[in-house]
Amino acid sequence: MSDNIMERRDFLKTLLGGLSLAALNWEAFPKGTQESKGTNDFDAVVIGAGLGGLSCAAAFARQGFKALVLEHHSKPGGYATTFKRKGFVFDVSLHSTTVEERNGVHNLIPGFPEIKDIEFVPHPDLYRLILPDYDIRVPHKNLPGYIEILINHFPDEKEGIQGIFDDMKGLTKDIQKISEARGQVNMMTFRQDYPYLSQSVNQTWGQMLDARVKNTKLKFIISGLWGYYGLPPSKLASLYYAMPTIGYLQEGGYYPVGKSQKISDALMKFIEERGGKVMLRTGVEKILVKDHSAYGVKTADGQEFTGKVVVSNANAYDTFHSMMEEDDHLKSYLDRMDTFTASLSTFQVFLGLKKDLVNKVGIKDTEIFYETDYDIEASYKDALNADMENQGFGLTLYDNLYKGYSPEGKNTLNILNLQGYSHWEKYESDYFQGKKKAYRKEKERMADILIDKIEETLLPGLRKAIEVKEIGTPLTNVRYTKNYRGAIYGWDQTLDNSIPRRLPHKTPIQNLYLAGGWTQPGGGYAAVIPSGLECFGEIMQEWKGK
Ligand SMILES: Cc1cc2nc3c(=O)[nH]c(=O)nc-3n(C[C@H](O)[C@H](O)[C@H](O)COP(=O)(O)OP(=O)(O)OC[C@H]3O[C@@H](n4cnc5c(N)ncnc54)[C@H](O)[C@@H]3O)c2cc1C
Repeated sequence: MSDNIMERRDFLKTLLGGLSLAALNWEAFPKGTQESKGTNDFDAVVIGAGLGGLSCAAAFARQGFKALVLEHHSKPGGYATTFKRKGFVFDVSLHSTTVEERNGVHNLIPGFPEIKDIEFVPHPDLYRLILPDYDIRVPHKNLPGYIEILINHFPDEKEGIQGIFDDMKGLTKDIQKISEARGQVNMMTFRQDYPYLSQSVNQTWGQMLDARVKNTKLKFIISGLWGYYGLPPSKLASLYYAMPTIGYLQEGGYYPVGKSQKISDALMKFIEERGGKVMLRTGVEKILVKDHSAYGVKTADGQEFTGKVVVSNANAYDTFHSMMEEDDHLKSYLDRMDTFTASLSTFQVFLGLKKDLVNKVGIKDTEIFYETDYDIEASYKDALNADMENQGFGLTLYDNLYKGYSPEGKNTLNILNLQGYSHWEKYESDYFQGKKKAYRKEKERMADILIDKIEETLLPGLRKAIEVKEIGTPLTNVRYTKNYRGAIYGWDQTLDNSIPRRLPHKTPIQNLYLAGGWTQPGGGYAAVIPSGLECFGEIMQEWKGK
């Protein structure tokens, strides 16, 4: 091999790890024997049944290894769960995701072709963006149509509009090419061979966009999905806007019939059918470490489980700061990790309406973003500061996705604002002691602002139609998923914490790995499910060499 051919260099390995499941060579991986171990001894112990943890455990189970998942909540899924109130079933998180198809039917969870009984329905339009001077419906799976809409609004920017989408498509092609190359990349010609990728890994989304587009309003419109990734253009790594967004535009946005819980339940069933175990209501307190090597976990009720590897789907902050005492050994790792910021959290109002108001008003949209100006940087600051008056909102009208979402003749709505955690810190201690009077008052105040805004702009008669109202704050996110600062995408997806620099699966503690939003490749359904698989793939590579 020539010196220029670098096989599986760290850079490429992490890049590939985060971008493609094609690198997973299941046939070449070792196989589990399913041989009976002690009741509390497993091949892999996974902390947390979020999608990243479930997908990792499912991969172990598929390969014949004994996997155990320990989850503190009473249901699997982390954010991918639902809850019931008076006949309404609310989705905790999912609005839209990309899926795989077989014979034209969208029924496959990426990486899990065996699970084919979940029907995914498309958002008829990817989303609708309402701005002071524009009302744009981004068409389903129709990038040329979307480009035409933008050019009609901004004819002077035709070249820039075509250019930015060409860049995004070029990036996708580069990534496809590099994953097909499976690490066999000539570093001397890397820039020429992968021009879009080599540029993008050092660019924010703002820089990538600025290189093509001048008009501020147009920039806002093209960045209309920023809330799906949680950072404004000046901070968000370009890969994290360009890749998923072009995926959504070209492949469409989908939602599972049966809601997000259906995905989590299917993965849990997959694990159990293959001899694995998922223990709910079982929080992990400590990761057992000896000589800087993890060998198991201890639960809050004192049980110990051992494993060849421990995979943490719990947030990375707690994994290292609360579940072990390895600060000295981890010094340089933690020095770096502690410079990262947690991504934004959410403020949500879940509404069950006693009548079909959506149909009565005649709104056919499923996902609406309503913004009051063209300054995403300011919107981000408002979100950080929980300034509800100034913020726009996201509204999901689930009944327009499929019939039967709500009880007959009723509606299920979700109003969502991204929100920082700081505002809620003052309520934290009381909240976890069950003293919620002031907290409730504050969340009701914020919910009222949002309900009023929607009543005024989109759904007259909303307040009177409410039958059920639930409010979720950043503290709710912490309570149910234990995510550090209620973050929804793990660490902020900034340039210094994105592929290939995002915290890797492998940690400095031997046999301890990370899967889910806090590690590679990042947050969101279409990233955390692959995250679990990639994590498994890395462990297999290591076991193969032993
Ligand atoms: C309101 C909202 C809307 C969203 N909308 C979308 C969307 O439309 N599309 C999209 O793609 N993404 C969306 N996301 C993001 C997506 O939901 C997350 O990125 C993803 O689900 C995170 O998965 P994860 O594997 O990192 O685990 P998490 O969902 O964070 O789950 C971690 C699990 O670990 C468990 N755990 C933690 N600590 C312990 C412990 N000590 N012991 C035992 N168990 C523990 C938790 O209880 C939890 O079940 C949204 C998120 C939110 C909150």
